[in-house]
Amino acid sequence: MECEYCHKVSDELPYKCKFCGGTFCSDHRLPENHECLGLEKFKDAKHEEFRGGVVKAAKDYDAKVKAYAGGGMDTRKLALYIVILIIIAFIAYYILKHV
Ligand SMILES: [Zn+2]
Ligand SMILES: [Zn+2]
Repeated sequence: MECEYCHKVSDELPYKCKFCGGTFCSDHRLPENHECLGLEKFKDAKHEEFRGGVVKAAKDYDAKVKAYAGGGMDTRKLALYIVILIIIAFIAYYILKHV
């Protein structure tokens, strides 16, 4: 086989690069060692994947915060209703006691 990078012909098994699809010798089988054209694409894909993940995490966080804030509002409303009910009960008790 012949290495596409150094064009050295040898009997060893060819290494196929999974990024660019080229055949290389053991010295140049790594993408970094044969100026792999597929490596940049691979990096971009990873980068996009990472960015997508960050955006998704931020969206999830935002949704969680919104859900929590919504829940907080409901609890506060409930507490206010309870306070109003207690006041009404006290007024009713006071009126009943003095009739
Ligand atoms: Zn080589
Ligand atoms: Zn390659």
